Amino acid sequence: MSEENLFPLEEFVQRIAPRLPSKEQQARLQDLLDRAARGDPEAGFDLDDAVRDLPPAAQDWLKEKYRIHEQHQRGMETLPGQISLLHASQRWVCPEENCPEDEPVLQEGEEPPECPRHRRKMIRASQKKDHAG
Ligand SMILES: [Zn+2]
Repeated sequence: MSEENLFPLEEFVQRIAPRLPSKEQQARLQDLLDRAARGDPEAGFDLDDAVRDLPPAAQDWLKEKYRIHEQHQRGMETLPGQISLLHASQRWVCPEENCPEDEPVLQEGEEPPECPRHRRKMIRASQKKDHAG
């Protein structure tokens, strides 16, 4: 098995899990992530199931990450926004100009997440466009 080519689903789920509106769902995902980290072979399948219960924006975001990963595996360059499943109003982005970090909006009125690189509060992608233009 060539682990390095596998899509790091756990890594992306880990990023959004603490922001989910449902505490129950947070706990379920955290438990699955812990099991996956311990090498539980069933955890991967259960995680796939759990992903189907996530808010639609989170599912689209994960699909986007998966497609970008696939293209990189084939040696294709992916430009930002080239594979875009998520509408700008449903996407949090870093206010730094060239930062590629983004996260899905899980619930209207939620606290903006922080950019993992810059520790700055993220803004909606639609807002960033306005400011740039
Ligand atoms: Zn950033």
